[in-house]
Amino acid sequence: MVLSGMSTLEQMKDNLSFMKDFKPLTEEEHAAVKKVCDIIHSKNLIPCTACRYCIDGCPKHISIPDLFACMNTKQIYHDWNADYYYNNVHTVDHGKASDCVECGKCEKACPQHLKIRELLKEVAKGFEKK
Ligand code: SF4
Ligand code: SF4
Repeated sequence: MVLSGMSTLEQMKDNLSFMKDFKPLTEEEHAAVKKVCDIIHSKNLIPCTACRYCIDGCPKHISIPDLFACMNTKQIYHDWNADYYYNNVHTVDHGKASDCVECGKCEKACPQHLKIRELLKEVAKGFEKK
């Protein structure tokens, strides 16, 4: 299925315009999508869609989707890049994962029903060891 967030009428019209000449996926394309899904699932990544609906109410101004993206990147590439972005970009003017006070506001806003509080504990373990 297509998952596309929309906040304005213009965005909805834009989205609909892409469906005017809709053609379903071929069997070959379905197989390719399944292959990609299997790879993604095997990596145990956080299924955050980066819609950013969760961040407005956070009292600690934690940039939740960016921290999840760092975690996913680390999981895939196992290199220094994710640590750099976690420490030097996404937590400079925003809270760290460990700053979460577990108020739960973000989870009420998440359309993916992610257990953000638990996931942030994993993120803190991954990036704030020292
Ligand atoms: S539970 Fe944590 S991350 Fe979520 S809104 Fe509250 S402080 Fe922010
Ligand atoms: S609301 Fe959920 S899916 Fe959207 S950015 Fe936040 S954690 Fe990710």
